Amino acid sequence: MDTPSAPLPNPEALKGDGLGCHSGRDAMLEAAAQAGKGGTLDQYAADYPKGPHDQPQSMCPAFGSLRVGLRMRRTQTILSGSACCVYGLTFTSHFYGARRSVGYVPFNSETLVTGKLFEDIRDAVHAQADPSKLDAIVVINLCVPTASGVPLQLLPKSIDGVRVIGIDVPGFGVPTHAEAKDVLAGAMLRYARSEVEAGPVAAPRTGRAQLPTVTLLGEVFPADPVGIGMMLEPMGLAAGPVVPTREWRELYQALDGVAVAALHPFYTASVREFEAAGRPVVGSAPVGHDGTEAWLQAIGTAAGVAQSKIDAAKNRMLPAIRGALAATPIKGRITLSGYEGSELLVARLLIESGADVRYVGSACPRTPWSDADRQWLEARGVHVQFRASLEQDLAAMHEFKPDLAIGTTPVVQAAKQRSTPALYFTNLISARPLMGPAGAGSLAAVINAAIGNKARFDAMKDFFGDTGEGYKSGVWQDVPQEHPEFREHTRRQVIKLIKRRKAEEMI
Ligand code: SF4
Repeated sequence: MDTPSAPLPNPEALKGDGLGCHSGRDAMLEAAAQAGKGGTLDQYAADYPKGPHDQPQSMCPAFGSLRVGLRMRRTQTILSGSACCVYGLTFTSHFYGARRSVGYVPFNSETLVTGKLFEDIRDAVHAQADPSKLDAIVVINLCVPTASGVPLQLLPKSIDGVRVIGIDVPGFGVPTHAEAKDVLAGAMLRYARSEVEAGPVAAPRTGRAQLPTVTLLGEVFPADPVGIGMMLEPMGLAAGPVVPTREWRELYQALDGVAVAALHPFYTASVREFEAAGRPVVGSAPVGHDGTEAWLQAIGTAAGVAQSKIDAAKNRMLPAIRGALAATPIKGRITLSGYEGSELLVARLLIESGADVRYVGSACPRTPWSDADRQWLEARGVHVQFRASLEQDLAAMHEFKPDLAIGTTPVVQAAKQRSTPALYFTNLISARPLMGPAGAGSLAAVINAAIGNKARFDAMKDFFGDTGEGYKSGVWQDVPQEHPEFREHTRRQVIKLIKRRKAEEMI
């Protein structure tokens, strides 16, 4: 299948040095809008409302889309972007155990501004589209190709049966890597929905489920879907696929669910596809006693299950959850922040375990699907901050002086510097079961052990004092001496340089 010739990209995107996540988003947005990406960016602005910062404060957002693509069977993911961005993304994806190679179509100023980059991407897609190996090829435009308008929408929709999905995931339009997962998941669901509407599609690998299924939206801990399946069973329901899916044909199954559980609340584009397919979407998740009770009720109602069966599910699950919570109490004051989207759920579980949670910050935005969690937390005096910035997370830690700070890398680092025990949200908290009875007791051991380490932090602080702080940090033969006169010299040089530039501009 051939495609129309590409419009010339916008060379404005290359003006100045390194327009990317380290420069302001306004220049990039303007260049992208001029290059014909205005519609895409308007949709992103509606789906992913911005926070206080004009650039991501965590990893490159495109990592979310890349990861979703790399985890799918028979899917090739190709990046189009600056080499430094691709290096970082490839490194990170392999650090997190990517199962396959990342494709890359390199560019330079010339191929970008002449439109040759688009031709190169199209050639790469054609070269890769082997239906014996692939169901889908995903092409991801990073910041500079998006800003310059590389028109992935003009790629063929499929080549020899291999679907081609082109998406723009710029750091100046998608605020977090969590939401970037939604960009790709939503694009795939839209494609799969059009296939379902056009005629019969492939059945699930393991055959169609005997019971009506509930689609699970959000990358949860692998044991959680199993636990959710056990909770649904008394209602005559089964756990359906998890979206983002691991295989193309699971998308059909996901769209076929009797209801969708938005376990992670930031999948706005995906929810739009499910709603277009006529599927009811339920927010929150079965965490702790109260969360599980409300969730079972909401799911049962959405799926049209008789109240007696919903009650049967509650009667089977809730006593076990209550027992697990009581058996594994958590004592201590905690502040919590992260960018995974599950922060409010974890906070609920901590509070039901007995913890004194004062602050929950999420880099994700407020959506209807986290509203029940927000209300539950606020009713217990917790400050819930959506689109939380690092500065807000740190301020909360300083204000509430927690026994334990759960957070992102810079929050944990700041906490440890002040001898406050701290745990990484992504690696240590969100990588555990949270749902139902299994989730109820899963956090206590790690949290209590961390809180119990306070004395060790104090001992270390006493021993090391202020060694290695500020200009003395690093490994040295001798303790470095500060030279304020060097700084002063550099400052004077910089002032001179600025004055000379100004004078030159006036000539
Ligand atoms: S693609 Fe990612 S790393 Fe590169 S400039 Fe954009 S946000 Fe930054």
